[in-house]
Amino acid sequence: APPPPGDYLARLNPEQRAAVETLDGPLLVLAGAGTGKTRVLTTRFAHLLVTGRAAPHQVLSVTFTNKAAREMRERVGAILNRPAEGLWLGTFHALAARMLRRHAELVGLTSSFTILDTDDQTRLLKQVMEAEGIDLKRWPPNGMMAIIQRWKDRGLTPDRIPVAETTDYANNKGEKLYAAYQARLVALNACDFGDLLLHVTEILRTNAEVLERYHNLFRYILVDEYQDTNLVQYLWLRLLAQGHKNICCVGDDDQSIYSWRGAEIENILRFERDFPGAAIVRLESNYRSTQPILNAASGLIARNEGRLGKTLRSGRQDASGERVRVVSLWDSEEEARMVGSRIEEARRGGQNLGEVAILVRAGFQTRAFEERLITLAIPYRVYGGAKFYERLEIRDAIAYFRALSQPNDDLAFERIVNTPKRGLGDTAMAALHRLAREEQLPLRFAAARLIETDAIRPRPRAALRELLEGLARWSAGLEKEGHVVTAAQVLEESGYIDMWKADRSLEAPGRLDNLKELLRAMAEFPTLGAFLEHIALVMDTDDAAEGEKVSLMTLHAAKGLEFDMVFLPGWEEGLFPSQRSLDEGGAKSLEEERRLAYVGITRAKRLCTISHAANRRIYGNWTSSIPSRFLDELPESEILREGGVQQAPRIPSSVFGAGALTSTRRPRVIEAGAWEVDQRPEHEKGFSRGMRVFHQKFGYGRITGVDDDKLDIEFEKAGAKRLFARFVEPA
Ligand code: ATP
Ligand code: MG
Repeated sequence: APPPPGDYLARLNPEQRAAVETLDGPLLVLAGAGTGKTRVLTTRFAHLLVTGRAAPHQVLSVTFTNKAAREMRERVGAILNRPAEGLWLGTFHALAARMLRRHAELVGLTSSFTILDTDDQTRLLKQVMEAEGIDLKRWPPNGMMAIIQRWKDRGLTPDRIPVAETTDYANNKGEKLYAAYQARLVALNACDFGDLLLHVTEILRTNAEVLERYHNLFRYILVDEYQDTNLVQYLWLRLLAQGHKNICCVGDDDQSIYSWRGAEIENILRFERDFPGAAIVRLESNYRSTQPILNAASGLIARNEGRLGKTLRSGRQDASGERVRVVSLWDSEEEARMVGSRIEEARRGGQNLGEVAILVRAGFQTRAFEERLITLAIPYRVYGGAKFYERLEIRDAIAYFRALSQPNDDLAFERIVNTPKRGLGDTAMAALHRLAREEQLPLRFAAARLIETDAIRPRPRAALRELLEGLARWSAGLEKEGHVVTAAQVLEESGYIDMWKADRSLEAPGRLDNLKELLRAMAEFPTLGAFLEHIALVMDTDDAAEGEKVSLMTLHAAKGLEFDMVFLPGWEEGLFPSQRSLDEGGAKSLEEERRLAYVGITRAKRLCTISHAANRRIYGNWTSSIPSRFLDELPESEILREGGVQQAPRIPSSVFGAGALTSTRRPRVIEAGAWEVDQRPEHEKGFSRGMRVFHQKFGYGRITGVDDDKLDIEFEKAGAKRLFARFVEPA
């Protein structure tokens, strides 16, 4: 007889309870954000143990992050009232690594194999490509790496790549390079991240005995965030679940946000096909957010097509709650001030800072908020990445600036001397250090001597000479051109920007954005010295401080989490939705951005504040930004709009492109208060149908409709758009 229902079951609603108690056979829980999917999974785990269906090590549970795995372990432990140990609980990667250690010899490795980090992977692949005589300038290794990763995400070994998935990259040698790379890895007793699941799946696929052992071991399988699994993850799960078919997956098609990393939403549909007769449970009560927050999120996501479709109603006691705030601000600094002061105010009101989050679309956005929080002495943590000034490219750039302002700074000089690669090998560097030691000179001056001797070979000598000349030229420029323009020149002329432009890894565009943001920050200081001093202070904040901290992270990293107070800044066209999704132009990428917006809003329990800045400063020039289309898609009845803004004078500018350095003007300072509500009726500009107009981003077009403060415009290049009239000029 089943044991009397424990306390833990009483904490569920009837649908959740059904999902927990349907223990045998395949089960899919398909439900919106905050409906308790993760709680169901955790409770189900505990229930399996309490009812004696499985011992702790006989349940395989997959979470999306290590943080989620830790939380699940704690929650299961709390329900069981003892620490949960010996569990097969973790991310796909962690679980696959553990399995692979047990069977490494089946793929030619030993159990002590190393897992290469991304730098090592690329270095290895580069060697392989060089050996094949590939022109690395034309076909950078990073690009090939991305293709190999995609194959691995789809469970494809080198010998099994279907024609439809071949590539003409690297002169059609893709598969050959892949095979050679895999062989090199085995020879080194190593594998990369993608190999973990690939190898394990291959082992299960080809080795009936091993597969059977796991069928007997794992009586139950639990999977969270199922909508973001990729194909190889799916294949691995399917192999393991084939025996008893006791697999429970929970997910939400509206929260699928990792297709760029190979996730395939079709896995949800495939589940019903591969596991016929699967029970499907839907949950509709949301226990996280107030009704206005849910309505706002639901209204937005309703714009997506082909959804599986769900209703959400708040099951919170205090469901009524405040409307979602939409705040318009002058620029990103103003936006950071707004967020900072609201957090400060909440803190004074007793708000736990651990329940406050700022969720951004792109990593570079954290900079303005970090500085604001530091100024206000509000502790914070950046999840899923480093704090802004600790990021690799920012440290590199700052090393260049330090070397400029302080010629004796050996640490800075050492960091930049061969970044980007200038062909200064160990021999040249050893000669440089020797000379510096002997002559008791700072490295930079030793380098100046060294290039006058023949102690190093012509190539490194020329490279060193070019760097020293650059440093001298930029130092002189500092006086003439000002620090912002000079800083941009440093990054461009040193080859540093080109290094990241040539890099085809997924992170490279974000790094370039961070560098632009760095220049933006710099423009707020009168001199390079003042800026460097500011950074030294910012970097010195005490990280070890215990206690609650505000969380800063990207929307992608926030999946599955929840906070009392959530800030969603930067809702501007080109930022969110991202420029990339707009350039790709397809409805698909835009829909994924919208799902990301849905994930963002549904992280909030009580208060959700969305904002956008009307202007961004680039190189000391203003460019105007258009509010995100997602703001228009929020149901008006659920939101409260605050503030209205004017735009700065239009000055075309581009960064790191042709003509990027044309203007040396300092930013125009607009007095506070200048961005109060724009009272002018829009039609003062005399907009009418048929009129030709110009828009900063979309170019020329003709008005096809006029409605309150918005215009329908048929742009010559960009097609039909609906825009706020205040962002449009008569042409
Ligand atoms: P997401 O889609 O964002 O991952 P989810 O569906 O996994 O959300 P959970 O995180 O499990 O949702 O639950 C959301 C919140 O609601 C949590 O704080 C959870 O503890 C609470 N909760 C879930 N079910 C109930 C319930 N029956 N009664 C009260 N609170 C609940
Ligand atoms: Mg969850």
